[in-house]
Amino acid sequence: SGANTKECPSPGKLIVLTGPSGVGKGTLLRSLLQRHPELYYSVSATTRSPRPGEVDGKDYYFISRSKFEQLVAAGKFLEWAEFAGNYYGTPSEPVIDQICSGKLVVLEIELEGARQIRRSFPSALSIFILPPSFNELEKRIRSRGQDSQEAIARRLQRAQEEINAANEFDIQIVNDDFETALNSIEAVLFG
Ligand code: 5GP
Repeated sequence: SGANTKECPSPGKLIVLTGPSGVGKGTLLRSLLQRHPELYYSVSATTRSPRPGEVDGKDYYFISRSKFEQLVAAGKFLEWAEFAGNYYGTPSEPVIDQICSGKLVVLEIELEGARQIRRSFPSALSIFILPPSFNELEKRIRSRGQDSQEAIARRLQRAQEEINAANEFDIQIVNDDFETALNSIEAVLFG
């Protein structure tokens, strides 16, 4: 296990789910959590505004930039990154506690954060979700219809960069057919 878990008698495992914005990793994760309530999902902090329907403390902890920067300075994040003009970070303490109590902990994070986790937790299992094609991804990102044109353009550029890094990760899964992708993730996690 990683350095941070070495005092745990029987640590669980850290799972990193990553892949470009719009690839459907959030939807895959929600189904995975429904089927496997024993998984612990780490709720991230972000400076982004909530989208319609998003709930503070469930989807994200929605916090200000100054609060986020305070938490960074205090070393409260396991990893953090700036994405499309906002900060996102994984609160350290709950993740360490849950791994120590033997849980399978799932992070759903972007590329830079996933790289940081791979460095600090070499035993983490990392899964990269790929779109069937870039055109398909572009359609999905545009059709979400909740982000500004500028945010969409930034997300598309970032998406291409992220896809180029897919093979840095342990496992790649293409989200073409949703059920097939979900079953592949389950097979990786539970054998
Ligand atoms: P969205 O704004 O669409 O909810 O998320 C944008 C991106 O930030 C997604 O790729 C999502 O996986 C990623 N993200 C969410 N939480 C975190 C986090 O705690 N750390 C990092 N590095 N990325 C995150």
